[in-house]
Amino acid sequence: MADTDERPTVKLVVHCRRCHGWLLSPRSIAEGIGPTCAIRERAEQRAAAAGEWALFDIAA
Ligand SMILES: [Zn+2]
Repeated sequence: MADTDERPTVKLVVHCRRCHGWLLSPRSIAEGIGPTCAIRERAEQRAAAAGEWALFDIAA
């Protein structure tokens, strides 16, 4: 078998990508971020999206 590149790409992230704390729930592991950090990140993404819309407003 020469297909050494064909590995099962199981990407389990067990550390929060934001605070690098341990992720305990399967959902957090699947998302790669803890629940508290997920809320913060969502707020940041919303703020970033709002910033993009603001730029859109300026362009238009
Ligand atoms: Zn975290």
